[in-house]
Amino acid sequence: MAEVSVAADDEAALPPGVPGTDLLSLHESIAGVLATQGDWRRAYHHLKSAFDLARAGSLRDTLTSSYNRRYLDQWLHGPAVEHRGPPGIAIALVDLDLFKKVNDTFGHLVGDRVLREVADLLQQGLPPEAFCARYGGEEFALVIPDVDAARAVRIADTARIRVARHPWRRIRQGLSVTISVGLAHESRAEPDHAAEPERQLRRADALLYMAKRAGRNKVAYRDKESSRTIPRSMNSADATDA
Ligand code: GH3
Ligand code: MG
Ligand code: MG
Repeated sequence: MAEVSVAADDEAALPPGVPGTDLLSLHESIAGVLATQGDWRRAYHHLKSAFDLARAGSLRDTLTSSYNRRYLDQWLHGPAVEHRGPPGIAIALVDLDLFKKVNDTFGHLVGDRVLREVADLLQQGLPPEAFCARYGGEEFALVIPDVDAARAVRIADTARIRVARHPWRRIRQGLSVTISVGLAHESRAEPDHAAEPERQLRRADALLYMAKRAGRNKVAYRDKESSRTIPRSMNSADATDA
């Protein structure tokens, strides 16, 4: 049998343009061949590479390539949250507005493309330590660590505007897309303020509902006095003491 010449740490030797899952299969196959040759050390390295690719893939959403719910859950319940100090963490839940109508009018393939582009647009404006994860069907979560409430609101509203101003009609004439956002900020100013990601997600979800009720294409957040949305509704019915 021919000697296998691809080294696990020498990806340059692999055929160009091999996508992740093909690369995974390739590492797995090479490991098998090396194992039959008794070259356990190199077989192990290829299996390790296959495992690393599989693990990285399990944390990504296949449609949008953004992080998935599993990554979000792991992050929120991992050490990254516990060790954060002030000014706090913001979680924004993002939901596409009237997205069913996009599917019904333009078809699911266009809907899928819109989801991919929204994921890219959401990721674009985030600080390096923040991330976007697909939370469910047409919902995304933005997690912004080490941020105060005012900056988090600015980041979320910039994302809202970026999506609304995107030239969607280049995909299909008549297509327009907006998002609603519920933003929950947890200050870590008090030293014994324990991280409770589930509570923060529930707050973000309630605020998202408020953004929808206020007319969509809005960011809803809560400051010390009351819950608010931006931009404010024309009928000013957006501020409540919820
Ligand atoms: P609202 O503004 O109240 O959120 O209205 P909506 O139409 O966005 O909400 P609704 O929950 O009625 O519809 C969500 C739609 O998202 C329905 C579902 O088919 C679509 N959807 C969910 N996941 C995907 C996906 O992966 N691809 C496509 N194309 N559509 C999806
Ligand atoms: Mg939804
Ligand atoms: Mg929706």
